Amino acid sequence: MHGTPLAAWTTLGVGGEAAELLVARERDQLCEAVARADAQGRPVLLLGGGSNVVVGDGGFDGLVVRVGVEGEREQEDGDGSVLVRVGAGVSWDDFVRRCLAEGLAGVECLVGVPGLVGATPVQNVGAYGQEVAEVVEAVQAWDRARGQLVVLQARECAFGYRDSLFKRSDRYVVTEVVFRLTRSGTAKPLRYPELAQALGAVVGDRPPCSEVAAAVLALRRSKGMVIGPGEQASRSVGSFFVNPVLGEAEVRLLDRRFPGAPRFPAPGGTKVPAAWLVEACGFHKGYRRGRAAVSSRHALALVALDGARAADVVDLAREVRDGVAGRTGVVLQPEPRLVGCQL
Ligand SMILES: Cc1cc2nc3c(=O)[nH]c(=O)nc-3n(C[C@H](O)[C@H](O)[C@H](O)COP(=O)(O)OP(=O)(O)OC[C@H]3O[C@@H](n4cnc5c(N)ncnc54)[C@H](O)[C@@H]3O)c2cc1C
Repeated sequence: MHGTPLAAWTTLGVGGEAAELLVARERDQLCEAVARADAQGRPVLLLGGGSNVVVGDGGFDGLVVRVGVEGEREQEDGDGSVLVRVGAGVSWDDFVRRCLAEGLAGVECLVGVPGLVGATPVQNVGAYGQEVAEVVEAVQAWDRARGQLVVLQARECAFGYRDSLFKRSDRYVVTEVVFRLTRSGTAKPLRYPELAQALGAVVGDRPPCSEVAAAVLALRRSKGMVIGPGEQASRSVGSFFVNPVLGEAEVRLLDRRFPGAPRFPAPGGTKVPAAWLVEACGFHKGYRRGRAAVSSRHALALVALDGARAADVVDLAREVRDGVAGRTGVVLQPEPRLVGCQL
């Protein structure tokens, strides 16, 4: 399809046209299309559900490949472990719900995250104390540098907080993800205090997966972090900024200005909730600039209002980032991939 408006392929619903858009439903078709474009020196943009990209108003002058590779196979691996191979184009939330229905534990806290399976290793999707990195066994990908299919074991994926090998470079096209789940109706130990509290439990408890998933969905709904009719976040990328991990000097500076700032120990420093910083710096829920706004339910979700252009969202994001940096010294980093636009 030539001249396809990308707004229709992203949750934000903004952005210009793709010179060409291809929906690749078969693995070979996906790899061949990317290899052909690479050989021609044409820019390629991979798209899953479009729930973590901001496409600029100028669109994308190249080939956009919507990853649509389906398929799911299960294999028992002894000790109650089950390996599930899932095509990159499968809906993540549908997959999680099948796991819940089949009594497979390990992804119950990740229910309700939009997008497709192939994108989950890209930013090591996480929520409510779980990350996909904990259950990814291996990732099958088309290696654009070597021109061949490869299998990367989890330890080769360089997973970090909202980070991975796949986020740092465009070299790999994820075609399939292998998850190692546990055949158990009991959830993995709870790590997130707010979730434990919602369940009337404490951190470390292991309630049934179905109860954990229901509590996660209720919390996500209360924060407007689900996609659905009438939900503002349906036109967002979820959290626009990642939670910053600060060094000692940055924490001291923040403390001088905001002595009560919440914080959590994290690998490499101290994690401070970005949503708290955004609100503390005056960007209250519902704050509006042009046709973009801070969600009225969650300070980290920037939403596109009716008639918004990408520039509205980007301008608001820039104002928030600069406002927070000016008052706290902390420069928030965007979580989504910015295509043809920058803050
Ligand atoms: C309401 C809402 C709530 C959200 N909540 C969460 C949350 O709780 N936790 C969280 O981590 N995220 C959350 N997100 C962000 C988003 O849903 C996830 O990052 C999701 O994994 C993105 O999937 P996608 O298929 O939409 O990816 P896309 O947005 O299409 O792509 C994201 C990036 O991955 C690349 N990519 C996509 N597919 C492939 C592939 N097959 N191979 C290589 N690269 C690929 C793209 O090029 C792009 O750089 C939320 C978003 C919304 C709108």
